Amino acid sequence: MKAGNHRPEVRLKGIAAAPGVARGPAYPLMRGMAIVSCEKVADPEAEIRRLEAALAATRVQIATLRDDVARKLNESEASIFDAHLLVLEDVALIDDVSKEVRRSGFGVKGLMEAVQEGDVILVDGESGLIIINPTAETIEGYRDKEQAIRTRRDRVLAEVALPDVTTDGGAFDLQANIGDPAEMEDALAYCARGVGLYRTENLYLRLDGWPDEQVQYEEYAEAVKAAKGRPVTFRTLDLGGDKRLGDLADEANPFMGYRAVRLCLERPDVFRPQLRALIRAATHGPVQVMFPMISGVEELRRAKDIFRDVEAELAREGVRPSAPIRLGAMIEIPSAAAVADELAAEADFFSVGTNDLVQYLLAVDRGNQRVASLYDPCHPAVVRTLMVIFAAAQKRGIPAAVCGELGGDPLWAPLLIGLGVHELSMSPAALPEVRFVLRHSASAELRELAAKVVASADAAKTRALLQDFASAKLKLR
Ligand code: PEP
Ligand code: MG
Repeated sequence: MKAGNHRPEVRLKGIAAAPGVARGPAYPLMRGMAIVSCEKVADPEAEIRRLEAALAATRVQIATLRDDVARKLNESEASIFDAHLLVLEDVALIDDVSKEVRRSGFGVKGLMEAVQEGDVILVDGESGLIIINPTAETIEGYRDKEQAIRTRRDRVLAEVALPDVTTDGGAFDLQANIGDPAEMEDALAYCARGVGLYRTENLYLRLDGWPDEQVQYEEYAEAVKAAKGRPVTFRTLDLGGDKRLGDLADEANPFMGYRAVRLCLERPDVFRPQLRALIRAATHGPVQVMFPMISGVEELRRAKDIFRDVEAELAREGVRPSAPIRLGAMIEIPSAAAVADELAAEADFFSVGTNDLVQYLLAVDRGNQRVASLYDPCHPAVVRTLMVIFAAAQKRGIPAAVCGELGGDPLWAPLLIGLGVHELSMSPAALPEVRFVLRHSASAELRELAAKVVASADAAKTRALLQDFASAKLKLR
């Protein structure tokens, strides 16, 4: 493409949205539509907080959307969202945007007015710069930048198959979140050590109905076999909330309603066949089972009792898992965090669902755009609650994993490992960057980062600490 036309180069500043550079002719179709305004902001730190919070909320929304598309269409259609998630996880990009906000205070006012049909536009997604009719010199400069972005991704991917150890040999364990046996292919391609979260409700939602024991067994067994000896952690049915089957009654407040383990405990006709299917699948390889939305000890005991009863029933039928099935509690409701001590005495492991935990802790609907800026995982309440959970697990000697989106965020993974977590489970596409950041960190450095975050108790400072840490590891330019 030619470098622009007779018109001079014009540069406009917008908000960075994606790494990479794109160039092409302009077709201004949307004159008269809303234009993002570019305004000086009085408080850049508040803007950065809004950006981070929006990124966190968007991550959860895209992950939910991805699951939805995987259920309703198929895995390959859904994988488009992996690219979106990668954009949100680009630490260097987010760091650049934050620096730019601090430096200039900004947004792309005047774009629609400035562009004419036939102009060439170059969009620098990484810094949010829009260049109309770039000169040949400008274009040449961008070739280097594009190359640098590719190099960074290549370097991260080059280490994807290396061991999960820090520079001083401290072991961590990166696993995959999946909801379909076909997704095991991606999980293995990115060298997941196992499945830390298998969302079993995806099958129900794909079928838009209640699958019987045999249908479930076939799906779970396929996943266990595809894992080739790696452990698969199945989460029992987490229907309700945003994951609704047609025949579940509408509720005014579904996130706090009849969902997950609450539904299962009331519906043995649903729960027992699922548990039978899971235990039968465990004859093909190592399986763990965890219960979602546990709010207290009584609930966990009831779920475990039913599981052990079903297990005994199957043992009488001659069905024996290849290895003992460990039973875990998902910690994603603040009340569970508050009684983590007691739960740790009952559970074989914890898996922290940060998507819901942040939503309930901050009373911010994770899917509601209007309050997305309040969905801030850097809120000190989140870090403090995580500390309570991890300390309870440590005291009782049970492992604690994180399977919510924070676990797959290269900003958060170092903090979580520094706080004492051993296992992080994430969407397969997030594995390379998280592994890279952790492999290039020393255990002492991770602990020091955690100590600073704990000491600061300030969301903006936490954000800056996490950004600085991750971008130092990922800045390969
Ligand atoms: C979570 O809440 O963090 C989680 C992993 O579960 P889901 O997103 O499926 O509710
Ligand atoms: Mg959840």
